[in-house]
Amino acid sequence: MNVLREVSQLSVDVAELLRQPGTSRRLEFAEEMEGLSLETGRVQPALTFELRLDSLVEGILVSGQVQGVYDFDCSRCLSPFSEPFSVAVSEVLAYEGQPGAEDGYEISGDHAHLEPVVRDVVMLAMPLKPLCREDCKGLCPICGADLNAEDCGHDRRPTDLRWEPLARLRERVEE
Ligand SMILES: [Zn+2]
Ligand SMILES: [Zn+2]
Repeated sequence: MNVLREVSQLSVDVAELLRQPGTSRRLEFAEEMEGLSLETGRVQPALTFELRLDSLVEGILVSGQVQGVYDFDCSRCLSPFSEPFSVAVSEVLAYEGQPGAEDGYEISGDHAHLEPVVRDVVMLAMPLKPLCREDCKGLCPICGADLNAEDCGHDRRPTDLRWEPLARLRERVEE
Protein backbone atom coordinates (compact mmCIF):
# COMPACT_ATOMS: atom_id res chain seq x y z
CA MET A 1 0.00 0.00 0.00
CA ASN A 2 1.42 3.37 -0.92
CA VAL A 3 2.15 6.03 1.67
CA LEU A 4 0.03 8.73 0.01
CA ARG A 5 -3.07 6.67 0.35
CA GLU A 6 -2.39 6.06 4.01
CA VAL A 7 -2.30 9.78 4.81
CA SER A 8 -5.28 10.65 2.63
CA GLN A 9 -8.36 11.71 4.58
CA LEU A 10 -10.31 9.54 2.17
CA SER A 11 -8.90 6.59 4.01
CA VAL A 12 -10.91 6.93 7.20
CA ASP A 13 -10.05 5.21 10.45
CA VAL A 14 -13.36 3.66 11.42
CA ALA A 15 -12.14 1.49 14.30
CA GLU A 16 -14.82 2.83 16.67
CA LEU A 17 -17.62 2.04 14.20
CA LEU A 18 -16.58 -1.49 13.35
CA ARG A 19 -19.15 -4.10 14.29
CA GLN A 20 -21.07 -1.49 16.29
CA PRO A 21 -24.32 -1.24 14.31
CA GLY A 22 -26.25 1.90 15.17
CA THR A 23 -23.22 4.07 15.82
CA SER A 24 -22.35 6.89 13.46
CA ARG A 25 -19.85 9.61 12.82
CA ARG A 26 -19.78 12.88 10.87
CA LEU A 27 -16.85 13.97 8.76
CA GLU A 28 -16.12 17.32 7.16
CA PHE A 29 -12.87 17.84 5.32
CA ALA A 30 -11.18 19.04 2.16
CA GLU A 31 -9.00 16.72 0.11
CA GLU A 32 -7.37 16.70 -3.30
CA MET A 33 -8.04 14.01 -5.88
CA GLU A 34 -6.06 14.08 -9.11
CA GLY A 35 -6.84 12.59 -12.47
CA LEU A 36 -10.63 12.58 -12.47
CA SER A 37 -11.56 13.22 -16.09
CA LEU A 38 -13.73 12.09 -18.95
CA GLU A 39 -13.50 13.05 -22.62
CA THR A 40 -15.99 15.85 -21.97
CA GLY A 41 -14.43 17.39 -18.89
CA ARG A 42 -12.25 17.30 -15.81
CA VAL A 43 -12.74 17.56 -12.07
CA GLN A 44 -10.62 20.18 -10.33
CA PRO A 45 -8.55 18.36 -7.67
CA ALA A 46 -9.78 20.37 -4.67
CA LEU A 47 -12.89 18.71 -3.25
CA THR A 48 -14.82 19.23 -0.03
CA PHE A 49 -16.68 16.51 1.81
CA GLU A 50 -19.59 16.50 4.22
CA LEU A 51 -20.18 12.90 5.06
CA ARG A 52 -21.88 10.72 7.59
CA LEU A 53 -20.73 7.19 8.34
CA ASP A 54 -23.30 4.80 9.77
CA SER A 55 -22.30 1.43 11.11
CA LEU A 56 -24.48 -1.37 9.75
CA VAL A 57 -24.37 -5.12 10.30
CA GLU A 58 -22.88 -5.75 6.83
CA GLY A 59 -20.59 -2.73 6.64
CA ILE A 60 -20.61 1.05 6.79
CA LEU A 61 -23.05 3.35 5.01
CA VAL A 62 -21.37 6.44 3.61
CA SER A 63 -23.78 9.27 2.83
CA GLY A 64 -23.60 13.01 2.31
CA GLN A 65 -22.29 15.48 -0.24
CA VAL A 66 -19.13 15.95 -2.26
CA GLN A 67 -18.52 19.42 -3.65
CA GLY A 68 -16.10 20.73 -6.21
CA VAL A 69 -15.74 22.31 -9.63
CA TYR A 70 -15.90 20.77 -13.08
CA ASP A 71 -13.91 22.17 -16.02
CA PHE A 72 -15.59 21.59 -19.36
CA ASP A 73 -15.24 22.42 -23.01
CA CYS A 74 -18.68 23.33 -24.31
CA SER A 75 -20.01 20.54 -26.52
CA ARG A 76 -21.40 23.10 -28.99
CA CYS A 77 -18.98 26.03 -29.19
CA LEU A 78 -15.92 24.31 -27.63
CA SER A 79 -15.11 27.21 -25.30
CA PRO A 80 -13.82 26.27 -21.84
CA PHE A 81 -15.94 26.99 -18.78
CA SER A 82 -16.19 25.91 -15.15
CA GLU A 83 -19.17 24.83 -13.13
CA PRO A 84 -19.44 24.10 -9.40
CA PHE A 85 -21.15 20.86 -8.42
CA SER A 86 -22.52 19.16 -5.35
CA VAL A 87 -23.25 15.47 -5.65
CA ALA A 88 -24.94 13.13 -3.21
CA VAL A 89 -23.23 9.99 -1.94
CA SER A 90 -25.05 7.00 -0.52
CA GLU A 91 -23.11 3.76 -0.67
CA VAL A 92 -22.43 0.83 1.59
CA LEU A 93 -18.82 -0.18 2.09
CA ALA A 94 -19.13 -3.83 2.95
CA TYR A 95 -16.98 -5.81 5.34
CA GLU A 96 -14.72 -8.35 3.70
CA GLY A 97 -16.66 -11.49 2.88
CA GLN A 98 -20.03 -9.66 2.80
CA PRO A 99 -22.02 -9.41 -0.42
CA GLY A 100 -21.02 -6.24 -2.23
CA ALA A 101 -17.48 -6.28 -0.86
CA GLU A 102 -16.18 -7.38 -4.22
CA ASP A 103 -17.09 -4.26 -6.16
CA GLY A 104 -14.21 -2.26 -4.75
CA TYR A 105 -16.14 -0.49 -2.00
CA GLU A 106 -14.60 -2.02 1.04
CA ILE A 107 -13.33 -1.80 4.54
CA SER A 108 -9.87 -3.20 5.04
CA GLY A 109 -8.53 -3.59 8.52
CA ASP A 110 -9.99 -0.66 10.43
CA HIS A 111 -9.98 1.75 7.46
CA ALA A 112 -12.83 2.63 5.11
CA HIS A 113 -11.50 3.55 1.65
CA LEU A 114 -13.75 6.27 0.32
CA GLU A 115 -11.77 7.06 -2.82
CA PRO A 116 -13.48 4.58 -5.21
CA VAL A 117 -16.93 5.69 -4.01
CA VAL A 118 -16.11 9.36 -4.48
CA ARG A 119 -14.51 8.71 -7.86
CA ASP A 120 -17.65 6.94 -9.10
CA VAL A 121 -20.26 9.44 -7.91
CA VAL A 122 -18.31 12.46 -9.13
CA MET A 123 -17.67 10.94 -12.57
CA LEU A 124 -21.23 9.63 -12.96
CA ALA A 125 -22.67 13.06 -12.21
CA MET A 126 -20.67 14.68 -15.00
CA PRO A 127 -22.87 15.78 -17.91
CA LEU A 128 -21.96 14.04 -21.16
CA LYS A 129 -22.86 17.05 -23.29
CA PRO A 130 -21.79 20.07 -21.25
CA LEU A 131 -23.09 23.44 -22.45
CA CYS A 132 -21.48 26.80 -21.57
CA ARG A 133 -25.05 28.09 -21.35
CA GLU A 134 -28.44 26.58 -22.01
CA ASP A 135 -28.97 28.42 -25.29
CA CYS A 136 -25.41 28.20 -26.62
CA LYS A 137 -25.62 28.80 -30.37
CA GLY A 138 -22.54 26.72 -31.18
CA LEU A 139 -20.29 27.05 -34.20
CA CYS A 140 -21.37 27.68 -37.79
CA PRO A 141 -21.04 24.35 -39.62
CA ILE A 142 -20.04 26.22 -42.78
CA CYS A 143 -17.33 28.65 -41.64
CA GLY A 144 -16.73 27.67 -37.99
CA ALA A 145 -17.59 31.11 -36.57
CA ASP A 146 -18.63 31.21 -32.90
CA LEU A 147 -22.28 32.15 -33.29
CA ASN A 148 -22.49 33.43 -29.70
CA ALA A 149 -20.06 36.17 -30.68
CA GLU A 150 -21.01 36.93 -34.28
CA ASP A 151 -23.54 36.16 -36.97
CA CYS A 152 -21.59 35.15 -40.04
CA GLY A 153 -24.76 35.28 -42.14
CA HIS A 154 -24.70 31.67 -43.33
CA ASP A 155 -27.99 29.83 -43.65
CA ARG A 156 -27.85 27.19 -40.95
CA ARG A 157 -31.46 26.13 -40.80
CA PRO A 158 -31.51 22.37 -40.67
CA THR A 159 -33.52 20.89 -43.51
CA ASP A 160 -36.56 19.23 -42.02
CA LEU A 161 -37.16 16.20 -44.21
CA ARG A 162 -40.79 15.86 -43.18
CA TRP A 163 -41.66 19.04 -45.07
CA GLU A 164 -39.79 18.16 -48.27
CA PRO A 165 -42.71 16.50 -50.12
CA LEU A 166 -44.92 19.48 -49.26
CA ALA A 167 -42.30 21.94 -50.47
CA ARG A 168 -41.96 20.03 -53.72
CA LEU A 169 -45.74 20.01 -54.14
CA ARG A 170 -45.86 23.74 -53.59
CA GLU A 171 -43.16 24.26 -56.20
CA ARG A 172 -45.19 22.25 -58.68
CA VAL A 173 -48.39 24.18 -57.93
CA GLU A 174 -46.58 27.50 -58.32
CA GLU A 175 -45.15 26.56 -61.69
ZN1 LIG B 1 -21.05 26.93 -25.83
ZN1 LIG C 1 -20.76 30.75 -41.14
